Amino acid sequence: MVRYGEIYLKGLNRPYFLKALVKRVREAAKPFGGQVWLHDARVFISDMSDPEGCMARVAKVFGVHSIAPAIEMEKDDFEGICQQANALMQGLSGTFKVEARRSDKHYFLDSPQINAKVGEYVLTRNEDHLKVDVRNPEHILSIEIRDQAYLYCRVYPAAGGMPVGTGGKAALLLSGGIDSPVAGYMIAKRGVQLVAVHYHSFPYTSEFAKQKVLDLAKILSEYCCGLKVYVVPFTEIQMQIHEKCPEDYTTLIMRRYMMRIAEKIAEKEEALALITGESVGQVASQTMEALATTNEVVHMPVFRPLIGFDKIDIMEYARKIGTYETSILPYEDCCTVFTPRHPATKPKMAMILKGEEKLDQDALIQTAVDNAEVVEL
Ligand code: ATP
Ligand code: MG
Repeated sequence: MVRYGEIYLKGLNRPYFLKALVKRVREAAKPFGGQVWLHDARVFISDMSDPEGCMARVAKVFGVHSIAPAIEMEKDDFEGICQQANALMQGLSGTFKVEARRSDKHYFLDSPQINAKVGEYVLTRNEDHLKVDVRNPEHILSIEIRDQAYLYCRVYPAAGGMPVGTGGKAALLLSGGIDSPVAGYMIAKRGVQLVAVHYHSFPYTSEFAKQKVLDLAKILSEYCCGLKVYVVPFTEIQMQIHEKCPEDYTTLIMRRYMMRIAEKIAEKEEALALITGESVGQVASQTMEALATTNEVVHMPVFRPLIGFDKIDIMEYARKIGTYETSILPYEDCCTVFTPRHPATKPKMAMILKGEEKLDQDALIQTAVDNAEVVEL
């Protein structure tokens, strides 16, 4: 039994969000052969080949709040419900309470009566190891009376958020680091479909470095309902910046190119915004002054969900979503080749423009976009 979260708050357009949620749950359950249907404010999955595996997969679907492995029963067979409740609780010890909920208001017992009757039935048969505590129980035996009765005593938290695709589309600048996968996850969690853009400086960055980013994208794709990755060749642009621009400004100029190219790809993909893993003050190119200079080259909104996060908190988040171990593999990123000794932290626009003047911007960008390799995950 799958419960949704924030979709509850929707008014007239709730059906739109529910339709998207069911579609995403259905995709996730498909490899397990499960039947998926929506009924009475719950999504149900039945007949799956590997229930534990299916639950783990569905727990990653944005929009799903929690999952309970439930037993479905004929609601008129109250004796059967009591027996089943007993079977569920027998193996447990400590304190418990029964929590009944009826959406069928014509049921012959109301919720407090169900609680009392089932509670007594279970207690009298397990008095040596179970006790009732209605305030702070260790176990909650839930009984939901809908078109059928549903019993469960375990509830697993799931990803939360909104179903992917209900919040539009955005392009994520995905490096091999810790931050950008987390930034992408956060925005995807709000229902946004992602397309990823990665800059690769072969042969200065290796095939391993590229594979690492694809591995990260693969992890993200499980949450994002698939992920298209543009691997953009960046070597020529970096070489020219290195040769022609003032050394202290090379990182910033390079970052301006990253933004411009990402915007071009976003337009091609009909995405409406860019996402980066930047956080104020983390590195020289992320001071307020530096961020302003990289922001101004694009007109799309740029979302930086980690802007106010400490690195340590981002690392914690990365561990939670399962990207951390891959992110810390020691392969170089294009940002770490050609690094200036003293990157400008308070850049002067005149210096940036003076450097950029020497580059054939349109041709460089067009070549990079045209030669991007597209990987569908
Ligand atoms: P991260 O930890 O995500 O790698 P970072 O700490 O390396 O980021 P920067 O190198 O300044 O910081 O990059 C800032 C942001 O720019 C990244 O979060 C990412 O969104 C984007 N970015 C950096 N390198 C790349 C790259 N090679 N390809 C695509 N985007 C990149
Ligand atoms: Mg970073």
